[in-house]
Amino acid sequence: MNLDINQARLSAELAKLATFSEAPAPAVTRILYTKQDLEARAYFKGLCLEAGLELREDALGNTFVRWTGSDPDLPAVATGSHIDAIPHAGMYDGTVGVLGGLEAIRALKLAGFKPKRSIELILFTAEEPTRFGVGCLGSRVMSGVLDTNGLAKLKDSEGKTPDEARQEAGFSDNLADVRLTEGFYYAFVELHIEQMPQLEQKNIPIGMVTAIAAPATLHIALEGAGGHAGAVLMPERKDALVCGAEIAQTIESVALTTGSIDSVATVGIFDIHPRAVNSIPSKVFMTVDVRDTDLGRRDSMVEAIKDAVWTISAERKLKATVETLNADPPASCAREITEATELASREFGLRTLPMVSRAYHDALFMARICPTGMIFIPCKDGVSHRPDEYSKPEDIERGVKVLGSVLARLSQA
Ligand SMILES: [Zn+2]
Repeated sequence: MNLDINQARLSAELAKLATFSEAPAPAVTRILYTKQDLEARAYFKGLCLEAGLELREDALGNTFVRWTGSDPDLPAVATGSHIDAIPHAGMYDGTVGVLGGLEAIRALKLAGFKPKRSIELILFTAEEPTRFGVGCLGSRVMSGVLDTNGLAKLKDSEGKTPDEARQEAGFSDNLADVRLTEGFYYAFVELHIEQMPQLEQKNIPIGMVTAIAAPATLHIALEGAGGHAGAVLMPERKDALVCGAEIAQTIESVALTTGSIDSVATVGIFDIHPRAVNSIPSKVFMTVDVRDTDLGRRDSMVEAIKDAVWTISAERKLKATVETLNADPPASCAREITEATELASREFGLRTLPMVSRAYHDALFMARICPTGMIFIPCKDGVSHRPDEYSKPEDIERGVKVLGSVLARLSQA
C-alpha cells in the first residue's frame, strides 16, 4: 500500500504544538494540566476532529481518538505517546508519536484503507514525572499498575493531589474508570524518537524495539553530624557528604560490574545540608535510578546498592534510610509487532535495527495489558530533553509510514 505522508503539514503541526510552552522557543516546557498543556491538548483535539475521528477522554485526561473499523466489537489496535515536556526540553519527544500517529491515520484514510479492527490514537497524560514525581502517570493508571489509592498519595510541589489537579483542569469523570481491562486493546505500538545516537551513527532509519528497560527509583537519606569545619577533628567526624560520595562511587561500580552493557545506575540528585563553606555536611539526600532490560539483574543491582548503603553508613556511623519509590519490571516487545515492523520497513525499502529502549515510555505500561511494540526514528546526536533535540522531517516521515503500515497490518489481523 502506498502511504502518502504530508510531511509539510506534519512539520507545521509539530512546530505549532511547540508554541504551547512556558519556556521561550526553541525550548519547550509543558507541564501536566497547566494552561499550556490544556491549550496544546485543545489544538490536538481540533486536528483530530478535522480528520473526522471520534474523541473520548478519561478522568485523568488520557485522550483516545478512534477510527472505527468495520468490526467495531473487536479489540482495537492502538498507537500514541505523550505531549508533556520537562522544563526546557525539545519539541519531538512524545509529540512525534502523537501527531505522527494522527498523520499515519490520515494517510491510511487517504489511501482508501478500511480497517477491520478500530484504530485508536492515544494521547497519554503526563509521561514525564515533572509534576507528581512518577513517570507515565496516565498509562500507569490505565494499566492498573497504579490504583486510585496510590494516586491519592502523590502530591505536586503545592501539595495538590492528582485528583485535585485534574478536577481543576476540567476532568471530572470517575478515576476508578481510568483502568483498562486486559484485552481492551489487541495491540499497542508507539512511534518515538530514539533519544540515543545508534540509528544516526549506523545510518539506519528504523529502530525495531525488542525490549524496554525499566527503572527502579531509590531515595537515600543519610544523617551524620554537622559541626564547625575548623573545630571537629577528622577522626570524630560523621560527614554525610563523604559517606554519600562513597555510596555514589559504589553505585557506579555495581552497574559497571554486572557483566551487561544494559545495566545502568545514576545518582541524579545529591543534596547536602546545611551547605555552608565552614560547616561539615550533616545530611545528604540522593536519588538513584537503576535500569536494566533484565528484571533479575536490575533487582540484584538494587539489592547491591542497598547493601552498600547499609555497610558504608554503618562503617561511618551514620543513620541511613532507603525508600524504593518504584521498581517497574522491564517489558519485552511482542513478536507480532516486531515482525509487522520488519515487514512494513521492507515494504518501503527501509533497513531496521533491533534495539533496546533504555529510556522508558508509556509502551512499558501498555505492555502489561496488551502485546506492545515500539518504532524508533533517529534524532540528531541522540540528544533529547534539550531545546536542540531534533529529528529530520524525512526521518519522521519514514517512521510515520512504517507506523501506518504496522497499524494497517495489525488492524486486519
Ligand atoms: Zn517521550
